Amino acid sequence: GRLVGAGADLDDRAAEAALRPTSLEDFVGQRVVREQLSLVLEAALRRGRAPDHVLLSGPPGLGKTTLAMIVAAELGRPLRITSGPAIQHAGDLAAVLSSLEEGEVLFVDEVHRMARPAEEMLYVAMEDFRVDVVVGKGAGATAIPLPLPPFTLVGATTRAGLLPAPLRDRFGFTGHLDFYAPDELERVLRRSAALLGVELTADGGAEVAGRSRGTPRIANRLLRRVRDWSQVRGTGVVDLAAARAALAVYEVDELGLDRLDRAVLLALCRRFGGGPVGLSTLAVAVGEEPDTVETLAEPFLVREGLLGRTPRGRVATPAAWEHLGLVPPPTAVA
Ligand code: ATP
Repeated sequence: GRLVGAGADLDDRAAEAALRPTSLEDFVGQRVVREQLSLVLEAALRRGRAPDHVLLSGPPGLGKTTLAMIVAAELGRPLRITSGPAIQHAGDLAAVLSSLEEGEVLFVDEVHRMARPAEEMLYVAMEDFRVDVVVGKGAGATAIPLPLPPFTLVGATTRAGLLPAPLRDRFGFTGHLDFYAPDELERVLRRSAALLGVELTADGGAEVAGRSRGTPRIANRLLRRVRDWSQVRGTGVVDLAAARAALAVYEVDELGLDRLDRAVLLALCRRFGGGPVGLSTLAVAVGEEPDTVETLAEPFLVREGLLGRTPRGRVATPAAWEHLGLVPPPTAVA
């Protein structure tokens, strides 16, 4: 799999879990969301009630799952984890909902990918704390209302806009997570290095942070790869030289672009003359699913000013041509 993409090996999964902050206080960056969320939680604790449902939106790896765990921890309540793609039938959701404990936090990752009938069941559960269990079939089918204990839903989505309005409206609070600034990623790295028992120098940390695409998950993963390099070929310390050498081996460039990011830009420039080209055509050209290109590669490329989304399709910016060391055709610069 890709080094800095969505897939992670088992070792990485275990390490990821070990590196998760467990309180809002420990959670680096995202100052705005942290303050908003802490008010929501504190107020609910004072009232002795389950807080409003929480929606977290933002690109992968910015801490949505971590925040859901923190919500449960701060409330002192159990956490149940599931995901939209795992809920393909209303019955799947009914089973989860009907087994919730009072005040439990239910985390639904990729909540925008739930099946439609389940979505409708969720509306009712969120608003009225009730699930209608249908027994029988056809004309004899009856819905038996089953009351649920108050619970808090934490939904995660890569883009709040992907959610149907009725679902979006039932969340009392939406937190938007944005890419992290380099100094915040350096803090994430210092924390992780300490937990992993890795010696990290200031310039090593700055180098890894600068190439982590604003994403803590990537920062942590690159830290482990640089540590590997340094243990095998270096002094064991994660310093500037180790970071540069290791990241060259793993094909992470100075901007932090990985193979998929570069493949997207290269296809856009070389095969489609800089665009505009439709998302699905572009995805075929790099041999990936449109969804992968759209959620994994594009947000950061857009943010770095390398790729533009226009009504007619994706376009490469002058900065993209320059980054690839290519000369744009005269029309692409206009
Ligand atoms: P996905 O949407 O793909 O599930 P996510 O947004 O839920 O991603 P997490 O799994 O919560 O991302 O975070 C990925 C890793 O990044 C975690 O293991 C955690 O160690 C680290 N991390 C995320 N946010 C922070 C943070 N603010 N401070 C420190 N570490 C963080």
